[in-house]
Amino acid sequence: MTDASGLADRVQSGDLRLYELEDHADADTAAAARRELLARETGVDLDAIGSFAFDAEQASETAVENLAGGAQLPMGVAGPLAVNGGAADDEYYLPLATTEGALVASVNRGCSAITTAGGANARVTKTGMTRAPVFRVEDVREGADVAEWVEENVDALREAAESTTSHGKLTGVTPYVVGDNVFLRFSYDTKDAMGMNMATIATGAAADVVEAETPAELVALSGNLCADKKPAAINAVEGRGRTVTADVHIPADVVEERFGTTPEAIEEANTRKNLIGSAKAGSLGFNAHAANVVAAVFLATGQDAAQVVEGANCITTVEARENELYASVNLASLEVGTVGGGTKLPTQREALDVLGVRGGGDPAGSNADALAEVIAAGALAGELSLLAALASRHLSSAHEDLGR
Ligand code: NAP
Repeated sequence: MTDASGLADRVQSGDLRLYELEDHADADTAAAARRELLARETGVDLDAIGSFAFDAEQASETAVENLAGGAQLPMGVAGPLAVNGGAADDEYYLPLATTEGALVASVNRGCSAITTAGGANARVTKTGMTRAPVFRVEDVREGADVAEWVEENVDALREAAESTTSHGKLTGVTPYVVGDNVFLRFSYDTKDAMGMNMATIATGAAADVVEAETPAELVALSGNLCADKKPAAINAVEGRGRTVTADVHIPADVVEERFGTTPEAIEEANTRKNLIGSAKAGSLGFNAHAANVVAAVFLATGQDAAQVVEGANCITTVEARENELYASVNLASLEVGTVGGGTKLPTQREALDVLGVRGGGDPAGSNADALAEVIAAGALAGELSLLAALASRHLSSAHEDLGR
């Protein structure tokens, strides 16, 4: 074993590459060597980046390459938040990792109103992690033949796909023919896994069958019709991961007491801002700031942060009814997991434990469903609180007090 300084010397002299350090030292020493190298080359002191709580060995095997340290974020909690869900049925404290002052306070205010009103209803209405490979064909005639073959042979594709996983289930394959391209959008129930790796591996096995049995030739296992980590209408319409919706009925006196405004004023703010403003802007989502809650819970619980792009695809509705406010959120494509990926890291595991959803659920899939429902209820809390702040015109003063 070599010490960190010796390894940094060897990288600087060109004897070793940055990614070869784990071949010569344990993961902690390799990370220390990279920090020393960075300090020498940039003059930056990396003490804070070198202070982290996760296991370097595990992180460098499963989460990151060229490990140098950890990036920390402040984490707050909002709650209790009562959720009457299909899978989540309890009062929850929401772990929120963020650097946006005023966010947790605002979500907390929304949670308080929802819980006082008896809780948010929440349901996962559709589940399906997708992968859509693109194949090359001769022309549209051949493309149409391949699409027809796929529709008639879903069982053979299912057998191949499901041979790669003990949890994942193929729930459908939709063909799209575009000139001499055939896209096959495979959809899976990935249970408690977010499922992107699982769906990719399973689709690779199914694509082998398509290539063996038809003239189609695979060009790329991901053909962007999936659509992963890009804003896309297909996710908003068809869903991806979990499609989850939450709503609440809040008595008018609770609205006035907690938010200092009226159901009518919140409804008007929602209609003019979230619906008309978003429509005029050509937005994919029609919401105030669902991304804030989705991103903060994703970071706290080890979700794939880049999937906030589609996770925040949300429609918010508000209606002033007789003596109450009715409000709902619909998140069309929330990709969450309670096993795999970043959920294995220690702070993320603790945050999942706080929500009572770490690991595989019983039945399988119920923990990820519960996480999706809690996030939807949290997004609803965030929507209500921000809309109320706008309706009562105290948004800028809250940011001045709490964010500066
Ligand atoms: P994963 O860790 O690759 O797979 C989940 C694993 O958990 C599977 O091995 C599964 O076993 C097992 N498992 C145990 N109990 C389970 C349960 N109750 N429900 C479901 N699975 C259970 O995780 P993933 O969610 O598929 O992928 C997440 C990772 O993919 C993230 O790190 C993400 O960043 C990354 N990612 C990959 C791509 C890509 O294209 N490859 C794209 C985006 C993100 P079985 O499968 O044997 O049943």
